[in-house]
Parts: sequence; C-alpha cells; structure tokens
Amino acid sequence: MDTIKSKTLTELMGKILDNSIEVVDLTQVLNEETPVISLPDPFVDTKGFSIEQISKYDENGPFFYWNNFTMGEHCGTHFDAPVHWVTGKNHQPVDQIPVKRLIGEAIVIDITEKCEIDPDYCLTIADIEAFEKKHGKIPSHSWVLIYSGWAKYGDDHEKFFNVGEDGQPHTPGTTVEAAKFLAYERDILGVGVETVGTDAGMAASFETPFPNHHFMHEANRYGLASLSNLDKLPPRGSILIATPLKIENGSGSPVRVLALVEK
Ligand code: MN
Repeated sequence: MDTIKSKTLTELMGKILDNSIEVVDLTQVLNEETPVISLPDPFVDTKGFSIEQISKYDENGPFFYWNNFTMGEHCGTHFDAPVHWVTGKNHQPVDQIPVKRLIGEAIVIDITEKCEIDPDYCLTIADIEAFEKKHGKIPSHSWVLIYSGWAKYGDDHEKFFNVGEDGQPHTPGTTVEAAKFLAYERDILGVGVETVGTDAGMAASFETPFPNHHFMHEANRYGLASLSNLDKLPPRGSILIATPLKIENGSGSPVRVLALVEK
C-alpha cells in the first residue's frame, strides 16, 4: 500500500473531516436582491443577478432541475482582476492569473469599532502598524482582509449602502496612504472587504480616487468584495481560497471564497 504519497494532504483531509480544521464560507448568497454598486451619471451600472428556471422535473425536463442565470462579473461576492482598473490594464485578466495566487494566508485587520462610530472610516497606515506590532509583519503572498463589520448589513440594503442626506454612500474603506502602502510596501495578493466594492463609499472624491482599485491593480494585486463571516477568522493563520470563474479576458468574476481555520 504505497498509493498515498502525501502525509501532509492526508492529515489535512483528516482534520477537515474531524472538524479540527473548519471550512468557513466567506461568501454572500446570490439572489435577485444581491446588491450591486450604483455609479453616478454618466457611468453605466453592472447587471445584478437574475435567474430563470429551464425545468424542474416537468414537461421541459422530467428528470431534471436546472436554471439559466445572468449577472455582471462584479456582482455579489466577487473577485477584481488587475485589468478591472485602467492602472492595471497591462496585467492579467481573471483567466490568466496563476492559480497558486488564488490561495494565501488570510490577514484579518479588525476596524469594526472604528467603523461602528464612523461609517466613513478608512483603514490607515497606523492601523496596519498596530496590527503588525501585535501579530508580526504582513507576509508575502497573503490576503489582507479589512474587517469592518459591514457584512452584518448584507440583507439590509439601506444600511449596506448607507446613503446619507448628501446622496452619497457612507461605507468604510482604505485611505490613499494605506492603499499605497499595502500595494507597494507589502507583497500581498490583494485586499478583501465586506462592502459592495473594495473602496469606501466616498472614495470617488479622494485625492487619488478609488485608491484600493488604483494602487492594488496597478501593482498587479487583486480585490475581493462583499465577503462575510470575517468574524470567524483569527487575525492570522487561516488559509483563504478564492475561486473566480475562468472567464476569458474577464475583468473579474463571482467567486466562492473559503477559509480553512484550525481550531
Ligand atoms: Mn469589483
């Protein structure tokens, strides 16, 4: 019996099966209510998710149930490829990203208390430095997840978009300085957030507009939006697996995001 070559993978599978490694789903459910970003004029918005039944054990298909669905690449929990932004246009579309770069340690920076007080709160370099002082330097090939607590508003569109009397969305994000720092001073795979996009609601008006998109994609890094269950992850040590669809020349994709968390 020498058919099983890998002790590591056998141990991993055993721990997943006995729940000493928990598989956490970081994905929001997709349905026709799934929120999508809404842009100011004259920009064109993405399509949301819609589904139509082909058959369900009926005259259209007595033995089977199946559906067609349509959606934008950037709808629900989704992956931003570098080509999504003009600054990343010479980097890879979603189908060409090396699959090894879809898996990395999840670094979870908790800014929930600050976002509870100020919905426009943006991650700062000081927040990153405080995290690193406690947990060590953000390693290469890791996903930085900005834990704002926003996923708890996932089903409540009013709170999720938090449009103020000024007509602007007020949701958390990243400062220009912190986005530039993570893109150029740390060797990360990308950033993940709980909000509808990787930038703050007010980020169109920043000195560099949409800094997470601008700097991350310029530096050939990725984005994950509309994540959930970040409260189930430790600050360090879990493994995130993001699986975008292999859309030829795609700018992004809906994604199922899983994390492996050792108990
Ligand atoms: Mn996107």
